Amino acid sequence: MTFSIAVHGGAGLIRRHSLGAEREAACRQVLRGAIDAGTEVLARGGDALEAAIAAVVLLEDSPLFNAGRGGVFAADGTVQLDAAVMHGKDRSAGGVCAVRGIRNPILGAEVVRSQSPAVLLAGVEAERFLTAHGIRTEPPDYFHVQERWDHFLKARAAGRAVLDHDLDDDEEPKGTVGCVARDVHGHVAAATSTGGLANKLSGRVGDSPVPGAGTFAWDATCAVSATGVGEAVLRSSAAARVSALMELAGLDLDQATRRVVFDELPALGGVGGLIAVDGGGRIVAPFDSAGMYRAIRDTDGNVEIAIW
Ligand code: ASP
Repeated sequence: MTFSIAVHGGAGLIRRHSLGAEREAACRQVLRGAIDAGTEVLARGGDALEAAIAAVVLLEDSPLFNAGRGGVFAADGTVQLDAAVMHGKDRSAGGVCAVRGIRNPILGAEVVRSQSPAVLLAGVEAERFLTAHGIRTEPPDYFHVQERWDHFLKARAAGRAVLDHDLDDDEEPKGTVGCVARDVHGHVAAATSTGGLANKLSGRVGDSPVPGAGTFAWDATCAVSATGVGEAVLRSSAAARVSALMELAGLDLDQATRRVVFDELPALGGVGGLIAVDGGGRIVAPFDSAGMYRAIRDTDGNVEIAIW
């Protein structure tokens, strides 16, 4: 059996002229690094979730994307991060919500999945649990990316909570990150990590860490990692809907994801996109916004890196 993997770096109002050639090249390079990190795990017969986590760690460490180091600022001026992992073989899941100072929230989510009886842990208690389990922390300075701070000030002045890419034309966009993978054993997995919306209410939790909303995996159907306006993704149970449409309505991955992204999310006032892989390793990446950072390695080994 072959493997396949996809990563995303968020969907939103990504405009070619505001991104710039240099920035675009840097983003593509990080996406490439992430897909390669996941591929390395899968090529040696490694587990789908291990691969997804390896890819997301790389994206979290980059200041270019809205996750980990590059997370956006909440209304109180702190960086509050959400992340989740889910394994398709047993539907085990773990997530962290609104944690501060955690370098790689995706590793925290995995600790919750594998070493706690909980599915979701939030806030200071989550931070305590993670540090007790050896998860690395960083001081506020590490997360202080100047362009994020400027973006936050603009969002605050406009009195809005906005997707990282959305505000106005001269923004340099960044986004939530995620990965889906199917390994050579036929298992699928998903991992998603985000700083959420710029100027979000302090304590607000988005769709990313919630199984069935922004993150989902089940070998019988698919693995999904979503991006977009979290409230709409939460209310539509987007990732679980894709799975249910496949399981119960007999839709294939392409049909199910298109229905959710182009019909169901817009009906709830949300824009967004997702990456998904089915049990056969087929990958789709529909989005209903100007762009979505993504890299896809299909079962034949072809790699596509795209934004628009
Ligand atoms: N879905 C994320 C959230 O609402 C934001 C994003 O995808 O950029 O928290």
